[in-house]
Amino acid sequence: MAKTSFSVPQPQPLLAWYGRFKRDLPWRSHNGRAPSPYHTWLSEIMLQQTTVATVIPYYIRFTTRWPTVEALAQAHEDDVLKEWAGLGYYSRARNLLACARTVVADHDGIFPSDIATLKTLPGIGEYTANAIRAIAFDLPASVMDGNVERVLTRIFAIEDPINLPVNKSHLRVIASHLAPDTQCGDYAQALMELGATVCTPKNPRCTQCPWQNVCKAFSLGKTASIPVIQRKTKTPHRHAIALVIRDKTGRFLLRQRPSKGLLGGLWEPFGTAWTDEAAQFPASLQNKIEDFIRQTPDVVHVFSHFKLTTIVYRADASFDAEQALADGLIDGTWFSPDDLPALSRLSEKIIERAIQGEDAL
Ligand code: SF4
Repeated sequence: MAKTSFSVPQPQPLLAWYGRFKRDLPWRSHNGRAPSPYHTWLSEIMLQQTTVATVIPYYIRFTTRWPTVEALAQAHEDDVLKEWAGLGYYSRARNLLACARTVVADHDGIFPSDIATLKTLPGIGEYTANAIRAIAFDLPASVMDGNVERVLTRIFAIEDPINLPVNKSHLRVIASHLAPDTQCGDYAQALMELGATVCTPKNPRCTQCPWQNVCKAFSLGKTASIPVIQRKTKTPHRHAIALVIRDKTGRFLLRQRPSKGLLGGLWEPFGTAWTDEAAQFPASLQNKIEDFIRQTPDVVHVFSHFKLTTIVYRADASFDAEQALADGLIDGTWFSPDDLPALSRLSEKIIERAIQGEDAL
């Protein structure tokens, strides 16, 4: 039987395809010019774990309000967290500000271009450092995201689970051998664009692919089964109770989470810790439970590594919040609805659920 031989994918067909079909995204040019390292960095941080469609309005708002790294470095953390609200992973927003301040303080406002120095900046890891180097400076770097991993595993028909670290390292080596020394930024973006728009997780559009003639998975009829993903164990489920408390003027009682950890530094209604077992009504308020009205349905929020179900209670007018504060039964600060501090999406959902309960009266 005749052997099938495969060529190594060459950059030119991919670059030509990218030139014709790339999406018009706001971070790909600024006023007709190539994006600055600031714009590349900002977009790459925002795009981590989030879709392009979600990021676009955030990116436009950020670059309008803080058009340069110097402007962002002077921003208040609470303002940055507020603008970030809804993008999730709030540690990224705090790192964003810390990084801007470090670039201004330690690098005269100029992003470095070498990988080692880039990786010393807050919030910049291997992927982002490579993306900034390739896209903003047009220097050789192999940029690996989920889209690139999928394209490469299909091109070479790699059937080892893509989500195991050892296999990711193998893919990085392959990617670095394939990357050209010129047009580095376009090549990196073209590869990611191919995965995002053509070599999609389901039903890849192989007839439109510039690398179809070198794709082993296509040739072997295995595009549906590659990449292989090793199934994870079931997502843990945690539980909490939140109490939405307002005073007579309509102000909300909120408290700030510790600056370190999940949703660090953001504000939330009073409530219990998140537990693996069913949550219990706060012990300090057990004898006031009749002053609270349960809101339904519960708020379910999915984080990257666990699911949280929050039972929401709304304080009735009979609850004397000032007295409870004075007695140390609850804690927090009053905020008017027009001037709320930075809230996580979870807290927004909890407050919305309580307000819906008020409206239903
Ligand atoms: Fe992906 Fe199909 Fe192109 Fe192969 S031919 S890289 S499976 S789109």
